Amino acid sequence: MIAEVIVDISGSEVDRVFDYAVADVKNVQKGSRVAVPFGKREIEGYVTDLKENTEVAEDKLKCIVKTLDDYPVITEEMFELMAFMRRKYHLRIVDVFRLFIPSQMRGGRVKELKKQYITLREKFVGMDLDEYVKPSAKAQRDVCLFLRENGTSSLSEMNENFSASAIRNLIAREVLEVSAREIRRAPYKDVSENAAKSHTLTPQQQAALDAVTSEKNDTFLLHGVTGSGKTEVYMRCISQALKEGRSAIMLVPEISLTPQVFKSFKARFGDNVAILHSGLSAGERFDEWRRLISGEASVAIGARSAIFAPIKNVGIIIIDEEHDSSYASESNPRYRTYEVARFRADYNKCNLVMGSATPSIESYYRAQKGEYKLVEMPQRVNKRSLPHIDIVNMSAEFAAGNNGIFSGRLESELYECVEGGNQAIIFLNRRGYSSYVMCRSCGYVAKCERCDVSLVYHKEENVLKCHYCGNRYSSLDVCPNCKSVHIKRGYVGTQQVVECLRQMFPDKEILRMDNDTTQTKDSHATILQRFASRKASILVGTQMIAKGHDFPDVTLVGIVDADMSLHFNDYRSTERTFQLITQVSGRAGRDSKPGKVVLQTFTPNHYVYRYAVNGDYKGFYEKEINLREITKYPPFALIARILVTSESEDDCFSVLKKIYDDVMEYVNRHKEDFAYAAAMKSPVKRIQSKYRMQMLARIINGGEAALDKIYEATDKYRNGRTVCFVEVNPNNLS
Ligand code: ADP
Ligand code: ZN
Ligand code: ZN
Repeated sequence: MIAEVIVDISGSEVDRVFDYAVADVKNVQKGSRVAVPFGKREIEGYVTDLKENTEVAEDKLKCIVKTLDDYPVITEEMFELMAFMRRKYHLRIVDVFRLFIPSQMRGGRVKELKKQYITLREKFVGMDLDEYVKPSAKAQRDVCLFLRENGTSSLSEMNENFSASAIRNLIAREVLEVSAREIRRAPYKDVSENAAKSHTLTPQQQAALDAVTSEKNDTFLLHGVTGSGKTEVYMRCISQALKEGRSAIMLVPEISLTPQVFKSFKARFGDNVAILHSGLSAGERFDEWRRLISGEASVAIGARSAIFAPIKNVGIIIIDEEHDSSYASESNPRYRTYEVARFRADYNKCNLVMGSATPSIESYYRAQKGEYKLVEMPQRVNKRSLPHIDIVNMSAEFAAGNNGIFSGRLESELYECVEGGNQAIIFLNRRGYSSYVMCRSCGYVAKCERCDVSLVYHKEENVLKCHYCGNRYSSLDVCPNCKSVHIKRGYVGTQQVVECLRQMFPDKEILRMDNDTTQTKDSHATILQRFASRKASILVGTQMIAKGHDFPDVTLVGIVDADMSLHFNDYRSTERTFQLITQVSGRAGRDSKPGKVVLQTFTPNHYVYRYAVNGDYKGFYEKEINLREITKYPPFALIARILVTSESEDDCFSVLKKIYDDVMEYVNRHKEDFAYAAAMKSPVKRIQSKYRMQMLARIINGGEAALDKIYEATDKYRNGRTVCFVEVNPNNLS
């Protein structure tokens, strides 16, 4: 028998199968992970097929060394998914396979945790003790008596409590039998029972559930305001799938994968739930994955990568907070989660439910066109109104002499809230490291003349750049609009805000949650726990605190710099701002106490604030979709970026040049399909000593064919000295 094996070597362009003889290696199946000789080394690979014959000469043919697991790690469905992703995103087979198994499993860095057990052998169980242990061997008799009473026991524990030499002796004489059992390192064991109670559905929830369960293979957009009880609907959908003997996948953005979420799902579905996310230890992650592939668990909950959960017979796929940017993979291998989800839903003939209080403009557009079925939950469960949002004009504050972080309004609300024994959340809107420049007197923000997106200030060169076309503009010293010299660059950091609050409230505890304070495994949970237990009065944080959390005593939310995402250099910045304001505001007044939101901005008249204040998603959508149509941005265009990086500037340039010429030849034949196409240095010219150059194209017609051309050209000209890849509608163009 011959096995076709795809070898797992990194950083190489090798993407083909090699033939190996199976010989007498046992249990080699399609999907098995195997060790094979490759050159002078032994490396890992995946069996992609088995066959009788090979073209490889007998003296050249090598043998598989061994299988690395006693089950195939890639299922039939995942083979099909691999083929799909390979076609769609032009990925290497092995890069796709790597997504399918826990990374620590590769190279044997994690293994099953095995524990040794001992048992009295069957034939001695009913026998008189004297027949197999001498009356004088007191220690041995104790061991046998204990095992006869208690059955199989852990060897290490027995060794602690009884004579280890007696046990050794009994094992050697084959009175005791040793066996190894796998121990699962299960996260989140401490689950309270009362969390398992399910709610009686509100009529609105019931209607949503009915709509979703009435179809068999469809995509639903569940648009439900914050607090409308979407989670309960998801849980019912999952229960329904389980009742039909099927499994379920639920995706949540990484930052809202909180202990609260896990606990409520564990409480409801018990050991049937497996959790996959980066906060788990390698061992825990591996074991959770094992529970899924073995069928012990059939509900997979996790961040983006959980879409690759190795379960069979999927009955429902849920993507919560579908608008979240973390669902697009921004590093290799690049893929779009909803497209993978759609593939698995089709393969399994099940439904895909995407939920959000603020659906992405693209998804809502698809729903409007009938591609997705729209299901709406416009009311909060307890009929409570959404919190009131107060807009504070920071230009006016500045004119009145307030130079600080907080407006007078936010400051007085903070005192009232904290002194009154309630809790507050202060939100800082921060993304990446780039920053815009803005006039503090009138709120003017510099934009690209050509692309209508905010320019990014590049400190090293002291210039403003457009990340969509590469245009450069000189930095501003005087506002072109009002001639003020008070130009603001950069942003306020969380640290600064915390210091300011400590001065205001010296005897209150203030917590900070951002990238710096959440580096260790449990830090995230510890900070949230401390806030939930009401030990701290104020939580200061970035996007991380915007979602999912339910703190009943939070009555005030302050948004310090709402504009930050508004002027991000991105066609989606208005959409993101609307989403953030809605999400963050949703943290206030979730329980019996009413909530208030103070939103600080230099551009109070921007339409996004008007719609956000009124909770008017549809109004916002109408406005935004019209703009997108006029300016030719997605969903009315596809933005493709080909990024070429290399240690050598010359290689970078020459490869990009070849790709560019090839693509331009196509562009020139299809001029009407492109709104824009050009090559340039990337806005950030070097990262980690690699030069970066790119080609950008905005495709307005015939997207798929144009993309194929772009992928094809990129595949054709990449070489060993450059890394080239294509991104479609990337979140970030720096
Ligand atoms: P969403 O995800 O839509 O923002 P959640 O699912 O977090 O909303 O639900 C908000 C709150 O309402 C939660 O505390 C939840 O336990 C509660 N809840 C959900 N459904 C019901 C119901 N049918 N009856 C009572 N409370 C409910
Ligand atoms: Zn100005
Ligand atoms: Zn531009």
